[in-house]
Amino acid sequence: MALIVQKYGGTSVGDPVRIRNVAKRVVATLEAGNQVVVCVSAMRGETNGLVELAQQLGGEQPDAREFDVLLSTGEQKTIALLSMAIGQLGFEARSFTGGQMGMHTDSDFGRARISDIDCSTLRETLDDGVIAVIAGFQGVDGAGNITTLGRGGSDTSAVAVACALGADVCEIYTDVDGVYTADPRVVPNARKLHSVSYEEMLEMASLGAKVLQIRSVKFATQYGVPIHVRSSFNDAEGTWVMSEEDVMERLVVSGVTHKLNEAKIRVKGVQDHPGIAGKLFAPLSQAGILIDMIVQNLSSDGTTDMTFTVSRAEYNKALEIANAAASEIGASEVEGDQSIAKISIVGLGMQDHAGVATRMFTTLASEGINIQLISTSEIKISVVIEEKYAELALRSLHAEFIEDGAAEPVADVP
Ligand code: ADP
Ligand code: ASP
Ligand code: MG
Repeated sequence: MALIVQKYGGTSVGDPVRIRNVAKRVVATLEAGNQVVVCVSAMRGETNGLVELAQQLGGEQPDAREFDVLLSTGEQKTIALLSMAIGQLGFEARSFTGGQMGMHTDSDFGRARISDIDCSTLRETLDDGVIAVIAGFQGVDGAGNITTLGRGGSDTSAVAVACALGADVCEIYTDVDGVYTADPRVVPNARKLHSVSYEEMLEMASLGAKVLQIRSVKFATQYGVPIHVRSSFNDAEGTWVMSEEDVMERLVVSGVTHKLNEAKIRVKGVQDHPGIAGKLFAPLSQAGILIDMIVQNLSSDGTTDMTFTVSRAEYNKALEIANAAASEIGASEVEGDQSIAKISIVGLGMQDHAGVATRMFTTLASEGINIQLISTSEIKISVVIEEKYAELALRSLHAEFIEDGAAEPVADVP
């Protein structure tokens, strides 16, 4: 008997008809002789609606603890409705909130991290032959406060539970057929990948492919649980996210991703001597601001420019802190730009192929797209460009690396 954890996203449980459809799938999985844990998101639009409700109250920032209490209610609705729908099919299901199922987190409201999962309740439920229906996206901290795991966090709840239970597979049911070579809503020629390695998926998720929340991929990598991303609207085989050895194809470029929610800050005329970078970035990290790319120019006349990117949500705060730090270190000017996009290509095969970066830059140049920043790692190259060129850049890079036969497996890999 296999143990399967299934996760259904917001669109998949978007209305009562779809919830009934999910109930049928869950029951079919049970009837095929498996034990099933189902993790659900809030119904489509529900979480955004709750965020708007809080905004309508006015005031600057909602209280973080109460905001999590509010946001967690979306998933609570879905677990009850799905359990009822399963009951109507003549099978027993029991719903559990994060706290009830033993999902323990730290107290960082809004982006809490899972500290441990007490699986005893889930195991008892499964041993009774009952389907466990758990709320994604939420947990409780040591003091019993409700916490949430960050937007898209139900993926992480499901994969973490699959890891804790030692499940055979974690199936992520969503509104596309699997992981594509680019967001299929933006690049019509994107194609579904049969499988992709944890490493590539980790890069793709952190570089903008929101089909899986990045932390879910981290859990799966750490515990070696395979993820099967597939559609809740058909029975087609989806994409397997698995270890590199099990992936049959090794593509030069497996995915092209874009991220629009970043912003760029440039500090000009920074003295070029030891300790200055630390003084500039220390107050930003103390304020909990995550810095993404950092580029320092070669100095001329003993001064240099330092450019970095942050998430757009933290841009105003970061700009304020950078301005204060800049006057502290005697920098001449700070300028910011929110209309940027980060475009990346990701692929394990890059390690074996020279000239991938050159091809990327030449492709962008042929479209007249100027590159503002570049960062590379072994399996990815990212560039920052003007936001208005994001779709053009995505499509042309996809055409160059994936459609033109360049996505063929790398032949000379041992
Ligand atoms: P869910 O509500 O099921 O969690 P999400 O909206 O969070 O679904 O994630 C699925 C969406 O991710 C798709 O509708 C698609 O537009 C987007 N997406 C972005 N990049 C990719 C990609 N490379 N492959 C598949 N989907 C992607
Ligand atoms: N409902 C939450 C969100 O919209 C969590 C999730 O769907 O994964 O972000
Ligand atoms: Mg999601």
